[in-house]
Amino acid sequence: MDILIKNGRVIDPASKLDQKADVLIGGGIIKEVKNSLKTKAATIIDAKGKLVVPGLIDVHTHLREPGHEEEETIASGTRAAARGGVTSVLCMPNTHPPLDNAPAVEFVLLKAQKEGLVNVFPIGCITKNSDGAELAEIGVLKRAGVVAISDDGNPVMNSLVMRRALEYTKMFNLAVISHCEDKDLSKNGAMNESYTSMVLGLRGIPRQSEDIMVSRDIMLAELTGGHLHVAHVSTAGSVELIRQAKAKKIKVTAETCPHYFTLSEESVTNYNTNTKMKPPLRSAEDIVAIKQGLADGTIDCIATDHAPHTEKNKEYDLAPFGIIGLETLLGLVATELVEKKVINWAKAISLLSTNPARIFGLNSRGSLKPGSVADITIIDPDKKYKLKASDFLSKSKNSPFIDYPLQGLADMTIVGGKPVWSLKDGINP
Ligand SMILES: [Zn+2]
Ligand SMILES: [Zn+2]
Repeated sequence: MDILIKNGRVIDPASKLDQKADVLIGGGIIKEVKNSLKTKAATIIDAKGKLVVPGLIDVHTHLREPGHEEEETIASGTRAAARGGVTSVLCMPNTHPPLDNAPAVEFVLLKAQKEGLVNVFPIGCITKNSDGAELAEIGVLKRAGVVAISDDGNPVMNSLVMRRALEYTKMFNLAVISHCEDKDLSKNGAMNESYTSMVLGLRGIPRQSEDIMVSRDIMLAELTGGHLHVAHVSTAGSVELIRQAKAKKIKVTAETCPHYFTLSEESVTNYNTNTKMKPPLRSAEDIVAIKQGLADGTIDCIATDHAPHTEKNKEYDLAPFGIIGLETLLGLVATELVEKKVINWAKAISLLSTNPARIFGLNSRGSLKPGSVADITIIDPDKKYKLKASDFLSKSKNSPFIDYPLQGLADMTIVGGKPVWSLKDGINP
């Protein structure tokens, strides 16, 4: 059955559209986008006062299945995504077992088809068992359906292995997503290395741990012509290195996460383990640089690095790294970037949908052009709210943004033409 979304402000950077219009969808695709569309026999959704945008795409999600289903599953993670306005997730391969072989990738795809509420695009490992030693069978992974490769959670410390990965993936048109961390420099660290870490008595992770690897990987991308995608940029140094690499036309793209433009290391002062992640929260100057990088196009995407953990109730030093993010992504982008006039809505949608689809080759997504897959997020930009721990649909509740004042949230999430979440009715399985 056709659905007509009426009276919304339609923002589609891929077709340079930002105006009041109606969107007609049917058969799982976008049929028409036009002012005052008339049609019979359609379900009508009134989007007056709301934004109608291509569905958000999170290029960095940990779904934890297989292996840690107590923390998250494909079912629970995709429900959290739908609630957050996210219609597609790219899931990281550091599961147990890891996604370094075709059957493992096929398992995730099958499970997602059966139990997932939004689209799931698996990322395969760079190296076997993600241990950085020997390349995984990248061609086999590509045929099984991966959209990129990454050893996320771990850096590829061996430069020759990283070089081979960037060379080899060129054949398959896949990006290599790099978790940029020099493990020797970051060893035993729990937070950003600074005066604050000294005062708190916590071991530090210097910015150089990230910057050195970003620098190395850019050099290897230049050497090989491979596509490097830098995950979770957290430092001013990384932003500058990526800016220079892009000026030299090196094939590099990058993402940051909402916590890196929202919170600084000062948040660690209360030893809340939900401020512990890798890379760590940095300083106020880094936040300024990241916002600048988002505004000027140096950083291409905003991803969550959604990392569910149930074992956060520990001493700061011992707690695992990572926080959940699918349900606060949109609110933090709206509150911290759009409301504070760092970027406008069109730019925000580029960072959350248009660019992710283009970078990872998710054809016919990330756009509202007729013929595109009808993945759509309807956003209430004015809604003010706070989330309690019990509000999260994710199985894990490890968020530093519990009770954080937010503005802007998903009013409805439509995947392949089907509303899977709405504020009014909740989840529609
Ligand atoms: Zn990582
Ligand atoms: Zn990650």
